[in-house]
This record gives sequence, structure tokens and C-alpha cells, in this order.
Amino acid sequence: MDENNCIKSFRHVFCKTYCKKQGIIVDLKNIEHIGIAVNNIDESLKYYEGVLGLKCYAIEEVAEQKVKTAFLKIGETKIELLEATSDDSPIAKFIEKRGQGIHHIAFAVNGIESALSELKVNEIQLIDEKPRKGAEGLDIAFLHPKSTGGVLTEICEKK
Ligand code: ZN
Repeated sequence: MDENNCIKSFRHVFCKTYCKKQGIIVDLKNIEHIGIAVNNIDESLKYYEGVLGLKCYAIEEVAEQKVKTAFLKIGETKIELLEATSDDSPIAKFIEKRGQGIHHIAFAVNGIESALSELKVNEIQLIDEKPRKGAEGLDIAFLHPKSTGGVLTEICEKK
């Protein structure tokens, strides 16, 4: 088994003898975005655009998640502002409990399906067992903060 086959295989953790990337469970590329829960995107843009000088280049509603998202880019990384579009939105619940603030961190990965399998084998609790479609057409999946030291973590891949 060579390295390339290995990283795509489902039991990567068990192939240490063959794989140069031994020990790697998730093949991370970069921080794709940081998700920030806000009460109101227009209000928040006054800070992110007006004070920090970033540019919002897209606003998108993800009906399934009951959120409106605004994207700003800073280097390779994006800031994703998340506003609830309904009272039973996960973002509404988050803000109710904890107020506005950092909601999740998203890592771009190579091979999201194999990453999920590897994480599961390693007893990381998955919120999404299979990738689903997120904003900007990315395949995304969330990991439970219980097994990531309190940080709601998203892994995503552009296909
Ligand atoms: Zn996200």
C-alpha cells in the first residue's frame, strides 16, 4: 500500500507500517473559516467592513440550517457570520445560551469521507456521520464539542 492509497483508505490508523503519514487521522489543509454567531449581519458588517476593512463578498441563506451567512475573506481564511432566520435555528439557540461570539472553527481537509471514518474509529463523536452540503457548495460535517475540547469543529472539502 503506498501513501496515496493509504490516505484514502478507511483504516488509515492501522496501516502505520506502510504509511509515511503515519498517525495522521485527518489530512488538514488550512483553516477554511471561523464561524461567528451574530444577532444581525448588517449590524456586524459595520464592524467587520467599517472598522476592520474586510469585504463581504457573498451573503447566502442555508434554508436547511435556518441561517443566513455572510462571508469575508482574510488571506486564505474566511470569516463566516451566521444569523438565525428562525427562532428554532441552531444559531438562535446558541445565542440564547451564550450570546454572540465564536461558534465554530472549520478546517479544510483532503478526503472528508475518510477523515470521518478515521475520526469515528478514534472515538471522536460525529454530529454528521456523512458529509452534507454547506454554504458555498462545500461538503461539510461537524464534530461534537464534547470530544474536541469544547470547540464545535467543522471539517469541509471543496469537490
Ligand atoms: Zn462553517
